[in-house]
Order: sequence, then C-alpha cells, then structure tokens
Amino acid sequence: MDLPNVETYLIPDDIQSITNWCEDWAWLAGGTWLFSEPQPHLKVLVDIHNLKWSEIEVQEDYLIIGATCPLIKLLEYPWLLEWTAVEGLKSAISALAASFKVINQATVGGNICLALSVGTLAPLMVALGASYEIWHLNKQSRQVAAKDFQLGYRQTILQPGDILRRVLIPLSNLKWQVSYQRFSLAATDPALAIVVIVRNHQHIRCVIAASVATPYLIECLETEFMASLEGVNFIEDTKSSAIYRREITAVLIKKALQQF
Ligand SMILES: Cc1cc2nc3c(=O)[nH]c(=O)nc-3n(C[C@H](O)[C@H](O)[C@H](O)COP(=O)(O)OP(=O)(O)OC[C@H]3O[C@@H](n4cnc5c(N)ncnc54)[C@H](O)[C@@H]3O)c2cc1C
Repeated sequence: MDLPNVETYLIPDDIQSITNWCEDWAWLAGGTWLFSEPQPHLKVLVDIHNLKWSEIEVQEDYLIIGATCPLIKLLEYPWLLEWTAVEGLKSAISALAASFKVINQATVGGNICLALSVGTLAPLMVALGASYEIWHLNKQSRQVAAKDFQLGYRQTILQPGDILRRVLIPLSNLKWQVSYQRFSLAATDPALAIVVIVRNHQHIRCVIAASVATPYLIECLETEFMASLEGVNFIEDTKSSAIYRREITAVLIKKALQQF
C-alpha cells in the first residue's frame, strides 16, 4: 500500500547520523505491517536495512539475533541439534498468519516491536528468558527482560528515538524442551490463543499469548497451570468471547504438556 502522507525516506548507514526524532517518524524494518495499512500519522520513514547489523551470532553465553534479521533466516540457519528450543523459534515463525512473502521480508525486531497480541515471537522470548538490547539516539543503550518489554496491545516500553538493536537468548536455555501451540478458527486467521511451555530438568514455565493483550508468564507447578488461568484477563471481542479464549488456552496447555 502507498503511504501518500510520507514526505521523507531516510536510509542511514549509521544510527548516529540520526540526531533528532519526532512523533511522526517511524523505523522501517521489513515494512510488512507498515505498508499493510494506512499510517496517516507518519511523515518520515527511517529504513534500518543499511545499518548492516549482524543477524545471528553467538557471543559468550548468548545466542544473539539482530533486530533486522529476517524471519526466514531463522528457518534456514544451520542450528546445533542440541539447541532443542530452536524448534520453538521455527514454530513461532510458522505460526505467523502470513504468506511466505511476508516471512521473507518481516524482521525479528519488527515482529517484537509491533507488539500485537498475536505476536508470535514474544511469548517464546518470554518463555526462554530472553532479553532485549535497546539503543537510543543519545547513544545510550539498555537491556530489558523480554517479559517486561510489552505493556499491552501495540504498547511497549520503547520511547521516541529508541530502537530494538538485538535479542539475547542464554545458550543454556536453548537446550530446553519447547512446545509451541497455536489455535485459530481458520489457518490463515490471526491466532485466538498461543501457549508456549518450556521445560528443563528443574523448571517448567508457561506463557500464554494472543488470548490476552500481552504475553503472560505463568511460573508455578505444572499441576497449578489451570488454576492460574482463573485470574487472567482474557480478550473479549467480536472474534471470540473471553470464556472461549480461556477454554482454548486450557486445551492448548494440556496439549503442550502431553508433548513432554
Ligand atoms: C497477511 C499478514 C499477516 C500477519 N500476521 C501476523 C501474525 O500472525 N502475528 C504477528 O505478530 N504479526 C503478523 N503480521 C504483522 C507483521 O507483518 C509482522 O509482525 C512482522 O513480523 C513485522 O515485521 P516487519 O519487519 O515487517 O515490521 P515493520 O512493518 O517494518 O514494522 C512494524 C513496527 O515495528 C517498528 N519497528 C520495526 N523494527 C524496529 C526496531 N528494530 N526497533 C523499534 N521499532 C521497530 C516499526 O516502526 C513499526 O511500527 C501480519 C502481517 C500481514 C501482512
């Protein structure tokens, strides 16, 4: 879709060359969402393709995924077999209610920063204890736990001029078992519920998403997962009632637990 109100397109090769930021500016990553609907509030797009950030690398104890890494690269990368949690990454990308064309273009950072309730990567990142490195134009950077990043539907902790630089996943957590479950009324519909359960020897964690506005982490004994759904605020809208979303979430939790 054309964005006729956009007046300026910038494609910096260094983030430092952007010295100011206004409310009608946006970072442009894969553009699969930005160009999918009108953006009447935007006048300037800052394309981040030319920043040449590394896409997938291992540094010390972390797998580091650059924000501009296209989702397709996560499907194609020659992962170590012992990193069992990578199956979760692949499931998260397959769970995108989108075509191959979108998966080729869309980036990890775009998916996380868009912060849709149906966001597919965020619940996995929360479950795997990932953290996000955020840069600001004033050259300061900070790290935040994935579980603290998304505040609500299309709401994150990002401030104007902040950019998600990279995602860090502890290598030890990549050896965890993951079950990623998704339900939608039709395969190409957005998810009504997503459940991600990760397990290692001592630990089990459940994250629910899509049925709630923002990924919701449940850390308790697995026998208490169902009871802990009682206090959760499930989305009620024209697609489904909150009760239906809760029931579907419970079914997905049972299904996920059966996989271990
Ligand atoms: C048919 C279709 C189906 C879709 N289905 C799903 C789905 O099931 N689940 C889902 O989550 N999404 C879905 N999307 C939405 C979207 O395409 C994806 O979330 C995609 O991953 C966004 O990535 P992108 O790189 O294209 O982001 P862009 O469209 O370039 O950007 C999205 C937003 O993130 C901001 N942004 C991008 N990168 C950064 C960064 N590094 N730092 C700070 N802000 C940044 C942009 O300014 C913009 O506000 C769908 C889109 C289409 C067209």
